[in-house]
Amino acid sequence: MAIPTYEIYALKYGGPFTRQGSFVRWFQDGDKNVQIQYYIFVIRGGGETIVVDSGVAPEAARQRNLAGYVSPAEVLKRIDIDAAKVKHLILTHIHFDHVSGIQLFPRANIYVQEKEFNFWMKDPMAKRAPFLFLTEPSANRYLAKQEGKKRLHLIRGDKKILPGIELLLAPGHTPGLQVVAVNTARGTAIVGSDLAHVASSYQTDFPSAIITDMITWMKSYDKVRPRASSPDLLFPGHDLALLENYPRVAEDVSRLV
Ligand SMILES: [Zn+2]
Repeated sequence: MAIPTYEIYALKYGGPFTRQGSFVRWFQDGDKNVQIQYYIFVIRGGGETIVVDSGVAPEAARQRNLAGYVSPAEVLKRIDIDAAKVKHLILTHIHFDHVSGIQLFPRANIYVQEKEFNFWMKDPMAKRAPFLFLTEPSANRYLAKQEGKKRLHLIRGDKKILPGIELLLAPGHTPGLQVVAVNTARGTAIVGSDLAHVASSYQTDFPSAIITDMITWMKSYDKVRPRASSPDLLFPGHDLALLENYPRVAEDVSRLV
């Protein structure tokens, strides 16, 4: 059977936010501001809909006073996806902007790296200040309760979860960050999440400021970059260009490929 080709969509649910340049590229451009946005991604094809990251749920967004916030469930509706019926939810990593909306997807199979899960759920280090401020405790408690259930898939390393959809372990930003390699009409594309916050990080070889292991991060660049069929199929996690430089299919939704 032929491997399906998929389309990839970026859905903005928060921002833009102003950050120092050194936030998106480590120790670079500290005197300049850059803008970032919060996204979830949708991979669609072969009769399947896969959501990558859950975004932030309304309650957590209120507490954090997130500018430009729209519930990820509302943004999904704009391309006719009912979050409550989504069958596949990939969590790239367990930072609040990627997992706080997990309860918007009550029926989804959840795919997360075992290393990532164990760190945030079980390692006392995750409760230390530089890690803790990046988490949403209520979402993490919910995620912890999914352990042992059939819907939670704890992934060890690289794994094909559907024909043409492969998870790649790419740590450095977090202990078990994963990216998604997707078969598209233009070849393999990478939904890279925070392996690079902005496209220029891939080009200039700089990580963001949030690092758990810099050497590992560089090795993840070396591993993931060649997997994309071309450099423009390597999609960063927070770049404004994801919305601005691609065809708009609905409000705050673009088709990347
Ligand atoms: Zn992020």
